[in-house]
Amino acid sequence: MATPISHAFAALSVGSCFYRTAVPKRVWVAAALCSAIPDLDAIGFRFGVRYGDFWGHRGFTHSLVFAALLAGAVTLVFRHTVGITRISLFIYMFVATASHGLLDAMTNGGLGVAFLAPFDNQRFFLPWRPVRVSPIAVSRFFSLRAIGILKTELIWIWLPSAVFALAVLAVRSKLWAGNEKPVKVGGAGNRT
Ligand SMILES: [Zn+2]
Repeated sequence: MATPISHAFAALSVGSCFYRTAVPKRVWVAAALCSAIPDLDAIGFRFGVRYGDFWGHRGFTHSLVFAALLAGAVTLVFRHTVGITRISLFIYMFVATASHGLLDAMTNGGLGVAFLAPFDNQRFFLPWRPVRVSPIAVSRFFSLRAIGILKTELIWIWLPSAVFALAVLAVRSKLWAGNEKPVKVGGAGNRT
């Protein structure tokens, strides 16, 4: 796993594609939670679930099907949300959840990610894995190599995410400016 805060940061940066002032904050909070939820599978260790199992760590909850199911559930709950269409909401929650597996596949430890579960439980890594893996136990995170882990996440997750979000917002603000209708002056309503 990467750290939950880095998963959330990446998910929020994707939110730049859907940002509008009318979108309520709960949408961004939901996306951040969606990006962290896949790691709840680590609870399975306490109950004897093995790492490589279907329900094991980086198993089904890290798959694209799970991302679609979670996105569908969130879209259903938030179906009356203003400022964002249901399809955009679904896509955003899907990408936020799926981004978790993608970032995990960039880490240098553990088993790979079961992107294709439940159809195929094979585990995958990306060919390029610059992010140091974070320990599952929080106590170990704070006692071991925390600075080194955060450093790689800062370089390979936070920085690209921030650049991505700023670039998207810059492009979108240009498009918005281009679409602004000229203010009509001299109409009947403006006469005093
Ligand atoms: Zn994970």
